[in-house]
Amino acid sequence: MTSPPRALPVPTPETQPFWDGTRAGELRLQRCDACAHSYFPPRPFCPKCASRKVSWYQASGRASLYSYVIHHRPVPGFTPPYSIAVVELAEGPRMMTNIVGCPQTPEALALDMALEVTFTAVSDAITLPQFKPAARG
Ligand SMILES: [Zn+2]
Repeated sequence: MTSPPRALPVPTPETQPFWDGTRAGELRLQRCDACAHSYFPPRPFCPKCASRKVSWYQASGRASLYSYVIHHRPVPGFTPPYSIAVVELAEGPRMMTNIVGCPQTPEALALDMALEVTFTAVSDAITLPQFKPAARG
């Protein structure tokens, strides 16, 4: 049985550099040149000081688990149970994502656990950044 495809994000001019990055195996964020604030999702001005002088840079890919819910009902493209999580990137911004590479249980998904980015190609255009438990050491 083939499961139907999941709904995919559609790149916009503002988000295209982000999706180019994930396809290249890089997590790219924007940072304000005026006040150094890092933010996500991408937009052409700083959400803190409204400066339009913003730059893309490659984030570390490190994050911690901020919150999540575990879904048990099937949704196209997902095999339940699966987590919908919000992670806090080491650079500060929060991102909605999935936690992969571990059981989808409250026991395995501890708040504040250390995570690292992993990339999953879901179509020619879209590679999703997901997060997995960080390697120890
Ligand atoms: Zn700013």
